Amino acid sequence: MKIASFESEIYRVPLTEAWGSSNYSFTSLEFVIVSLKSDNGLIGTGWTFSVGNGGAAFKSMIDYYLAPKVLGQDVFQVERLWSRMWLETHDVGSSGVTTHAIAAIDIAIWDLLGQALRQPLHRLLGGYRDSLPGYGSGVNLHLDQDALLAQMESFQAQGYRAFKMKIGKDDPHEDLERVMAVRAMVGNTARLMVDANQKWHPSEVIRRVDMLKPANLFWLEEPTLSDDVDGHALIRSKLVTPVAVGESLYTKHQFAHQITRGACDIVQPDVYRVGGITEFMKIVKMAESHNIPVAPHFGMELVAHIGCAVPNILCFEGLRGAGLSEMGIIERPLTVTDGTIQPDDTPGHGVRFDMGVLAQYRQTPERLAREQVTTRTDV
Ligand SMILES: [Mg+2]
Repeated sequence: MKIASFESEIYRVPLTEAWGSSNYSFTSLEFVIVSLKSDNGLIGTGWTFSVGNGGAAFKSMIDYYLAPKVLGQDVFQVERLWSRMWLETHDVGSSGVTTHAIAAIDIAIWDLLGQALRQPLHRLLGGYRDSLPGYGSGVNLHLDQDALLAQMESFQAQGYRAFKMKIGKDDPHEDLERVMAVRAMVGNTARLMVDANQKWHPSEVIRRVDMLKPANLFWLEEPTLSDDVDGHALIRSKLVTPVAVGESLYTKHQFAHQITRGACDIVQPDVYRVGGITEFMKIVKMAESHNIPVAPHFGMELVAHIGCAVPNILCFEGLRGAGLSEMGIIERPLTVTDGTIQPDDTPGHGVRFDMGVLAQYRQTPERLAREQVTTRTDV
């Protein structure tokens, strides 16, 4: 089965709720969606995303450099196709735009494989379990305390028993007050996680998060700059709270550095940022060999498959405001029941975009250049 043709489009889709963290604020995501058609008439769907900058670059990388390299190639040579795309574009960056763009094609390839073999992705990748628990996750630093607690209450209503909130207020006592208010509301047995979105230098992290000890946090996420491996290792050596990193890492090599240098307790790969399912599975297996659990970032519809395929994925992220199901842009959205999800059981990954809904969000690179989005609040 060979790849016969491809198409790609960019969409800018509004969040269902605005996001605010310690250093960014935004209201939409960009998706680049790719269709790969095989020579026997199957259509594989892949996609990647950005938080406001990058969609046109991803599409250019796909259209001009990546898709032409897989055209005419055997879909079952998935490792060869991934390596070819990555190595051919390595000179312009081994991660970032390249891995985001590779992800869209890799996900479409896995969708074609599943359809050709008539198996859902979770069975193709390992078939470990039937459902996956998750946590309610809010990008909620801009919310006042009442709105924050209301959001947590809505997560409880979905059956979640684990919760994540943002920290990073200028006044550390305000962070402490918000975290303790949420802890009081969710109870002592619930898992409570906090996310600093890389805001502080290591010494400040240690001072500030030490204050949060009474909250008995399940993990501290991205406490310092994601590039600072030694900083994460230092933080981890000084705090009792487990350290989680990975949503801003882009290759298995970057994950290997974090793991082997003792910089993390939990890893959080993002299936789009790391180049799709092929690379994601390698990171999951590497973590397993170091006895490190994986709590994937974002991507609930694909994480449902991968998380049900292997033993060491802890949970999915039920991220409020975004996600294909919540945004209403796919034909068969996943539903969170009792805090868990089940992957789509049709061949492939089962994500079929609702083109009728998406049409209103279609963008051209020229329009994206005109309608700039600013996301950072700290520069
Ligand atoms: Mg995060």
